[in-house]
Parts: sequence; C-alpha cells; structure tokens
Amino acid sequence: MAAPFIIPIFISHQGCPHQCVFCNQHRISGQGEGAKPTGAVEVAAAIEEALGWPRRNRDAEVQVAFYGGTFTGLSRARQAGLLGAVAPFLDGGRVHSIRLSTRPDCLTPDDVAFLKAHGVTIVELGVQSMTPAVLDLCQRGHTAADVAAALLVLRQAGVKVGVQLMVGLPGETPATLLASAHQVAALAPDFVRLYPTVVVGGSDLATWHANGRYRPLTLGQAVVLAARLKALFDGAAIPVVRMGLHDSPGLAAAIVAGPHHPAFGELVKAHLLTRQIRQRLAHSPVPVRELRLAARDQSLLCGQGKANLLRLERTGLLGGLELVFDPALPRGAVSIA
Ligand code: SF4
Repeated sequence: MAAPFIIPIFISHQGCPHQCVFCNQHRISGQGEGAKPTGAVEVAAAIEEALGWPRRNRDAEVQVAFYGGTFTGLSRARQAGLLGAVAPFLDGGRVHSIRLSTRPDCLTPDDVAFLKAHGVTIVELGVQSMTPAVLDLCQRGHTAADVAAALLVLRQAGVKVGVQLMVGLPGETPATLLASAHQVAALAPDFVRLYPTVVVGGSDLATWHANGRYRPLTLGQAVVLAARLKALFDGAAIPVVRMGLHDSPGLAAAIVAGPHHPAFGELVKAHLLTRQIRQRLAHSPVPVRELRLAARDQSLLCGQGKANLLRLERTGLLGGLELVFDPALPRGAVSIA
C-alpha cells in the first residue's frame, strides 16, 4: 500500500501536563517559545497550503497529523475546534483521515469515542519506555500500566494504534530497553516508531548533558540498539514505520548532542543486512560461490562511502564469491549458492 501523504500540524507542547526531560518541541518545530497556540484558522490554512505541494503519488491517502503535543490533554472545546477545521476537507474528500499523537495517561474510552466521531483513525502513543525507573527519571508522569490500558481502549474502539519508543533515554540499559520492547510487542500495536534520544537545547536533558549527568549514546551504539529492537518487532510481525527523527524546520539547530543522523533508519537497516550476510557466510557448511541480495538493497550496502561493503571485505568472508544484486528479491533477502 502506498505511504500516506501526511500534512503535519504542530501543536508544540499544547495539552502537555508538564515537560518531559528530553523534550523541547518549541525548538524542534522551529515555532519558538512565544508562538501562539495553533487554532482552527491556522489548521485550515496549513492544510490548504499543503494540498498544493507536489506529491509523488496523487492516489495516496491524505492524512492530517497533529504532532508535538498531547492532543487529548487539550480541552474538549479546543480539540473540537482543531478537528472541526479538518472536517470540511474530510467532507470534500480532499483529506481522508486524521492521525494524532498523545500520552498514554490522557486517553479514556470517552476520549477515544470523541476522536473517532471526528474522523481520527490512528492514534500514536508516546510511550518512550516501559521501564518504571526510566519513566520516573524522564518525568514522564505515566506508568507502563497506562500504556497497556490505552492500547486496550484504542483497540476496543477499532482505532489503529502506533507506539513511539526511544533508544538511549537516561537510566535505560540495553537489557531494560529490550525488556521494554518485549512488553510493547506483547501488546501488539499496529506499528512502532523508534527514535534515538538526542539532546535538545532548552530541555532538562541539555542541562544534564552540560553538567555531566547524562551522556548520549554514540551513533554506532544507537544504531546497534535500534537494530536489535527492529529485529524484535520484525519477529513479532509489527511494522517499524520509522527509525530516526523526522526532519522539521528547527531540528538541526535544536540538537546540541546525541546520535542524530538524517538517514538513521538506513544505517539500522544496513547494520541488520550486513549482520545477516556475515552470519549466512560464516555458517555455510560449504564454500559460497555466489551471494545474491535484493537490488533495492544495493545502496544500503554500497552507500555511505561503501563502508559496509569494506567492513564485510575485511572479514575475509567475501573472498572468491560473486556478489549479485537481484531485482526479483525482496528487500532484506540474503541468498547464497
Ligand atoms: S514528550 Fe510528549 S508529553 Fe512530553 S513534553 Fe514532549 S510532547 Fe509533551
């Protein structure tokens, strides 16, 4: 199915009961701290403008997405105002659905019924971690039990649900991160997003970083951990629809430190692919003459200055074999002969 055409509307920190230590949506969105709250007029104008943008696929579903705050933390009147601004576009068939993100502790069955009645089909839960100590340290203000309850409410209402998880939060270890991912997988969300924790200016984490209380992961560490999570969710047949931060007007300027890379997701996929190749070649009981990979994975292996290919060559496993990129193979496939 074609990826939807998403029209993002930032409601930076609006509806948030407090500020989580790693977050500063004002900086990331580029809207600045003094920006006035997004209203119906701005929503309608943003949609009208975005509908005029060039689109790769004119048949793709058009979704309006409210990001960057806690939508269901807003008053009902404000929620109704924002959703009402989308209604004429839904009625006219120019927008097909609405998605939004919110916190797991801000979602009652009544909230979900209200959202559904206003055209919301997907809700993304900012979960970030299921580890109690990490949730506390990050001042998230919700528990893992809130996540399970929110997922249940959304599922019972027939609303698609996505979970956002973060890699490298303060207090999180590789073991607790994997345990968190296992817990999320057991709740069977419709999809997952994985974000590396970066230090955003103006956040508490930036202060912790400056005074030595927090040290971010290196890019390599974040890629390896995200790859372990991706493999775990792949194994549970839960799509990972995004790895890495979304580009936004203020993103580059907002990041003080941490494992940000504009192609973070591709780095993770390349790591998984090279690991799979190494394992297949190392464990082959007979000498391998040919290694066949998906043609669409060629850039994963050969991109980034051929770093992955060179690393594989250094293992000696590629010696004497022919490397074939096959257009008929699906992405991620590794075939040896
Ligand atoms: S992480 Fe989510 S809930 Fe926390 S401050 Fe940022 S937008 Fe609000």
